[in-house]
Amino acid sequence: MEDCVFCKIRMGEIPSTILYKDNDFMIIKDINPQAKVHLIAIPYSHVPYIDMMTEEGTTLLGKILGKISHMQQDLGLTNGYRIVINQGEDAGQTVNHVHIHILGGEKLPE
Ligand code: AMP
Ligand code: ZN
Repeated sequence: MEDCVFCKIRMGEIPSTILYKDNDFMIIKDINPQAKVHLIAIPYSHVPYIDMMTEEGTTLLGKILGKISHMQQDLGLTNGYRIVINQGEDAGQTVNHVHIHILGGEKLPE
């Protein structure tokens, strides 16, 4: 947790471009964008993997999906978007703090 980049962003110890935040999560710009718009929604609570989440955690993930849907225009997602959650090594998860990738702003590769 002390070495977690997303916890450090939350604490303001690492700078980031924050597009939205409330009491439970924030949406920031990915530092290494894989699409014209590449954002990450990060629940504040430090849980390393989605398969370790409690029901409270997964309920929050659902709320985040709803918020993204309502905010799509504000987030620059004009014609749809892609949601990705990487879980574990095979998926290439590099930051062990559950997060949701939001990709769009252009036609994405299939
Ligand atoms: P994942 O591979 O699913 O664990 O994704 C981690 C994501 O976090 C990658 O897309 C990184 O580019 C992104 N990332 C890592 N460090 C930062 C940072 N300091 N600010 C914004 N995004 C970051
Ligand atoms: Zn963390």
